[in-house]
Formats: sequence, C-alpha cells, structure tokens
Amino acid sequence: MKKLSILGSTGSIGTQTLDVVRNHPESLSVAALAAGGGRWPLLARQVREFSPELVAVYDEKAAGALRDELGASAPRIVSGMEGLLEAASLPEADTVVTALVGMIGLEPTAAAIRAGKQIALANKETLVCAGQLIRGLAAERGVEIVPVDSEHCAIFQCLQGVSRQDLKRILLTASGGAFRGMSEEQLSRVKASEALHNPNWSMGPKVTLDSASLMNKALELIEARWLFDTEHITPIIQPTSIVHSLIELTDGTVLAQMGVPDMRLPIEVALFYPERGRQITRGLDLTSCGPICFEEIRPPFTRPIEMARYALSRGGLYPAVFNAAGEFAGRAFLEERIGFLDMYRMAEWALEDYDRRGGNTGSYTLEEAVSVRTEVEERLKGAFL
Ligand code: MG
Repeated sequence: MKKLSILGSTGSIGTQTLDVVRNHPESLSVAALAAGGGRWPLLARQVREFSPELVAVYDEKAAGALRDELGASAPRIVSGMEGLLEAASLPEADTVVTALVGMIGLEPTAAAIRAGKQIALANKETLVCAGQLIRGLAAERGVEIVPVDSEHCAIFQCLQGVSRQDLKRILLTASGGAFRGMSEEQLSRVKASEALHNPNWSMGPKVTLDSASLMNKALELIEARWLFDTEHITPIIQPTSIVHSLIELTDGTVLAQMGVPDMRLPIEVALFYPERGRQITRGLDLTSCGPICFEEIRPPFTRPIEMARYALSRGGLYPAVFNAAGEFAGRAFLEERIGFLDMYRMAEWALEDYDRRGGNTGSYTLEEAVSVRTEVEERLKGAFL
C-alpha cells in the first residue's frame, strides 16, 4: 500500500489524483490532504471519503470552518505555511503529490524532497522558479522526481532505457489553446472568458489561460530543462493532444508517447512508477481519433517561448522573474484590466527591467526565489496599472 500526501487536493490535479486513488483502493491510500482553503466544503467531503491522518489548510479561517464542519470526527487539522510543510514531510507518507498552484507550492515541495519523499510533481513553479536549486536538493537526497505534467510525463516515459548521450532533442507538444491560428489583430480583441476554454484538456483557469497564450509552453520548456538536463527543447503544436510529447535520438529515431487527453493517465504513471496501474481512462482508438498533425508555433505565440529561452540563458532568478510577470499579467488580463497581447508586453518589460536593475544570474536561495515575485509585481503595478 502506497500512502500519499496530496498538496492541492481541491484543485484540478488534486481531485483527479483522488479519483485515481478511488480506483485503486488496494494499492493507494491518503495520509495527508492539503489545500489553500478556498474550496473547504469540497475538502470536508474529501476528508470524509479518504480519512487522512492530517489535513493542512493554508487559510486560517478556512481551517476553522473545516474543524466546525467535521466536528468530533475531524482528523488533526493544521494551517498556514507551517501546516503545508508538515503535510509535505509527514513521516507516514511515501509519495508527495505536489499540485498546489503557483509559488505557494515551492517551499512545501522542497520540504518533501528534504524529507526524502518520492515526488509526483505537478507544481510547475517549483522547477521554473528554482530549478537549479531543486535539482541539487533532489540529487543530494537521492529523490527521483516523476513529473505529472502530461508532456513531461510523456518525455519521462520515452526516455526510459535511453542513454543520455543518445538524446538529440525533446519535442514538447502544445495544443495551441483556444486562440490557435489567430492573427495579432484578432488577438487584440479576445476576451478573458474566451481564453478559459481549452479544446482538449480540462484544467484549472490559470493553466487554461496560459495554454491560450502559450505561456504554459514557455514555463514547461523551463520545467523540461531542469527535469531532463538539456537545453535542446523544441516546442511544437499538436492540435488534438493525442501525442503528449516526443524525443529525437542522435540516429534520427523519434519516440512519441500517445494517449487520450486525460490527466488521470499521467497521474497514474507518476503514482505507480516504475510499475503500472490498471486502465481507468477510456482507451485511445487510433481509427477514430482523427489525423495526428503537427504545426510550427508562429508569431506572436513565439514571444513567450523566446522569453523562456532568454530567461534560461541568463540563469539565476530570471526564470522566476518571468514566471512572476506572467502570473501577474495573466491575472490582470482575467480581470479585464489589460488586453491579451499586453500580457506579452508586461512579461518582456519585466525581464528588461530586471536587466536594467542588474538581475541575479548566479546562485540564489529558496527565499529569494519566492520573494522576487513581490518585487516584480510592485514594478509592474508601477509601470502598467
Ligand atoms: Mg502540460
């Protein structure tokens, strides 16, 4: 029986992880649940169904509401960042699923690695903002990070049994999102509500918007760089999300991983690795899934990809600055305070601004990777809003 600590249990990945657990009662159980607290009634239902020993709620008030709701049957409930860190390093848990959305997931993921847990990584920001540091930490503790992100999980699977010197490059697929093929002129008029629809995937609002802007692919390029220790990564559009990513070898061989676009599949791979769970998603019917085509990413959607490459080439805290700027700009767009293309402008400005201020291109601490975000937000507020 594998015991899980699920950080971010009420989000899109968290609820789908619990569905995987629900389908494998003989081999998976829940030791701890952690969530921000915005959806505490759902958290209460999860506690009743999965009986964790520990529940961590980031928001103090929501933790109180959860205690009241569960009454005498409540497990131990902790709160704040300290609570999240406790859930991340709970001695009873074997594997920690890091599915908190945003920067809040960084410190708990580091805590889980320090505690020597197996990591099923769904929080992108961890590797985007502190990839070098986290990689070092995982190597030091002998912890293997298995990615839950569908593309990275695909690459991870393709790389099994492949020697590192035989890898030529990674082909990182993107669905293209809601606005694929639109011109700059059309993009300047799109509304927030239109961005919150993905043709293939069911995901949380942040990732759905980031898919429409290709910001998600830019972040994933950085994530892949740290997961697989290569800078040879080419993003490419595969509109139906049947091919989840590919690798090209030095002899010209291309290996792809395919499957239905259902996040429960990569979650299952990460939870059962190196073994396999049983099939809980519908199978892939190759004769009815339509043609599998690939397209190059065209301007203006190349802008975030270029920013990601620039941030990686600068190193240090540049990727964290890029991430913070993208997150801030995304929120401003969803609040209808800026247009779609302004998101790119804001992120580009933030990187240039960081250059002008003599940004950190060297080593950094976890605290610095977290605090750079507030700094970037202040600068962007001053310049744009
Ligand atoms: Mg992805």
